[in-house]
Amino acid sequence: MTRRHGDSDVWQFDTSPCHRVVISAPPAFYEAAEALGVTVAADEPLARHTTFHIGGPADLYAAVNTIAQLERLAELAAAHALPLTILGGGSNILASDGGVRGLVIANQTRDFGVRVADLRLADPALLTVGADVLAASGVALAGLARWTIKQGWAGLEWAVSVPGTVGGAVIGNAGAHGGDIARNLAWAFVADPGAGRAPRLRAAADLEFTYRSSILKRRSGGAVVLAAGFTLSRGDPVELAACADGFLARRRASQPTEPSAGSIFRNPPGDVAGRLIEAVGLKGQRIGGAQVSPRHANFIVNVAQATAADVLALIDLIRQRVFAQFGVELIPEILFLGDWSAQPPYGMLHGV
Ligand SMILES: Cc1cc2nc3c(=O)[nH]c(=O)nc-3n(C[C@H](O)[C@H](O)[C@H](O)COP(=O)(O)OP(=O)(O)OC[C@H]3O[C@@H](n4cnc5c(N)ncnc54)[C@H](O)[C@@H]3O)c2cc1C
Repeated sequence: MTRRHGDSDVWQFDTSPCHRVVISAPPAFYEAAEALGVTVAADEPLARHTTFHIGGPADLYAAVNTIAQLERLAELAAAHALPLTILGGGSNILASDGGVRGLVIANQTRDFGVRVADLRLADPALLTVGADVLAASGVALAGLARWTIKQGWAGLEWAVSVPGTVGGAVIGNAGAHGGDIARNLAWAFVADPGAGRAPRLRAAADLEFTYRSSILKRRSGGAVVLAAGFTLSRGDPVELAACADGFLARRRASQPTEPSAGSIFRNPPGDVAGRLIEAVGLKGQRIGGAQVSPRHANFIVNVAQATAADVLALIDLIRQRVFAQFGVELIPEILFLGDWSAQPPYGMLHGV
């Protein structure tokens, strides 16, 4: 069966045998993407692009290298009413086995520096405010932190051990070792595809950061972080590097090395999720190819071609046991991406 999706020119096809409803785009979309220098692929397995090494196919998948490509491709998706997902490092998500409908943009924008010009924006006049350090949203946060340390900028040392991109870190207010994005961010440059307006500068104070969250994460309204500006202070590169190396060493000693998405649950107020999971006897518990890490109980690791369903079953088991024993409702820190119609996940699809 083929049918029109709303009033748009997006077509959906029921595909047998699994009845996955694939969203495809008309030739005009592919042509416009080509004109931006972007190649759109169909049915790209997301397991290749997530740190969990889990995830079914994206209907449409395209990698972008510049902020202009990111902004314009997102706008193009909106113009064609394509559901849009931005993928950073894929380090804080569980992508469903059924995959993700619509377009997934892999954010591989890599420009950064100390001047607005370093970002190579299509329209630099839109970004009127500088910062000590500016980065495109696809820049690896840990790499940026290392660079700032070498340049004698203090503030991002905590970030050397955090995987993923600047954009993903802004969305989730990433943090470690007592630091977080909220403390260092001056502003984010944010697009609202389909809203009919140019990207806007949003001051950090307007992003309503809370523990591992921001207004952009809570409202899942389709905003795209294009770039970020950081306020840092001056420091001694040797001392900063020693501090960062200490953080990394602590990480290596305490965290598993198998594929994962980092901490699965937020720490509940006044407690530590890993302690609770260990206390209910689930450290090392395995379902299918997924296991509660024997090294760190708040990590679920992919030890043998785990599926998203395996991980979800472990998440459910942990939540039930911890609630039964301690009356504490653990809330996932990771985000659930994609089509979960075959297996409705934990009620809150987009985290908090
Ligand atoms: C081994 C390991 C250790 C970790 N340790 C930490 C830690 O110490 N502290 C911590 O905070 N986190 C940690 N994490 C989790 C993860 O690294 C962070 O949450 C990271 O900031 C996610 O960034 P990402 O680019 O991978 O985002 P993704 O996982 O790709 O995306 C996360 C969400 O943000 C959205 N998104 C991403 N980029 C954009 C954008 N430009 N615009 C709009 N939406 C966007 C995605 O659609 C998705 O909803 C760890 C993960 C692993 C695997």
